[in-house]
Amino acid sequence: GLEAECCLFYSGGDYGIWKRLMSDMEPEANRIAMVKLNRIYNYCTSGICRHKAILRYFGQDLDKSNCAACDICLGELDCIEDGLITAQKILSCILRLDQRFGGGYTASVLTGSEDKRILANNHDKLSTYGLLGDYSKRIVHDWIEQLTGQDYIEKTGEYNVLNVTERGRCVLKGKETPRLLKPAQKPAKVSKVVEDSWQGVDRGLFEALRKLRAIIARKKNVPAYVIFGDAALRDMARRRPSTPRAFLEVKGVGEKKLQQYGEVVLGAIKDYCQANSLQTDIGIW
Ligand SMILES: [Zn+2]
Repeated sequence: GLEAECCLFYSGGDYGIWKRLMSDMEPEANRIAMVKLNRIYNYCTSGICRHKAILRYFGQDLDKSNCAACDICLGELDCIEDGLITAQKILSCILRLDQRFGGGYTASVLTGSEDKRILANNHDKLSTYGLLGDYSKRIVHDWIEQLTGQDYIEKTGEYNVLNVTERGRCVLKGKETPRLLKPAQKPAKVSKVVEDSWQGVDRGLFEALRKLRAIIARKKNVPAYVIFGDAALRDMARRRPSTPRAFLEVKGVGEKKLQQYGEVVLGAIKDYCQANSLQTDIGIW
């Protein structure tokens, strides 16, 4: 089929809303619904390959480590810069707690909560208490889920007690760096981004460039996104460059792409703009 672009919209708030909506269900039905809610929430936040996550849900696994098509495998995620140190703090805390507590409790200790249970257990005396006090418990809990999704932590027993895996121990030795996501942006900003991405784009030219991309991809026998991403095509259909120099101003276009596709793409843009009396080189001086 044709290449498709998928968007996943979610926020931590959705989790709370659904949890409340489901609270008056029968206990057993609620338990099952909560398991499902947690799975879909982890799908959004755990930082593991989207394809792998879906396959695992259906009891299969991906036979390669990188699907080369999802946001995670393409490295489009906004990760925190000190992922290694943050992960080490979390994993150390799990060990200090003798691997006897769940994600919520561990996140509370890391953020320095004065919860009665923590004080009663003297866990406010641990060296890892409050190590991530600059973040909310929700964010730290999400990071714990992300580390679980990437197999650095495993949950065991009825109470989902956290255990550090062999891979997790590699992180503690600094041999591996997990991916931890930056806290999600406010939803309002997301819709602004979507709106902006089509601002000033000539849809007809975008479609023409998409067709051209499909032809090039078929000839080279590679997926279309390898040639140019949709964001690059939109930017071309917005700026409508007429010269190699202007083409280089397009998002995602460097010297290599210019050499490979510059001539054919610039030709297509020129033809389209002439046929439709469109101005070229928008915003390029
Ligand atoms: Zn993937």
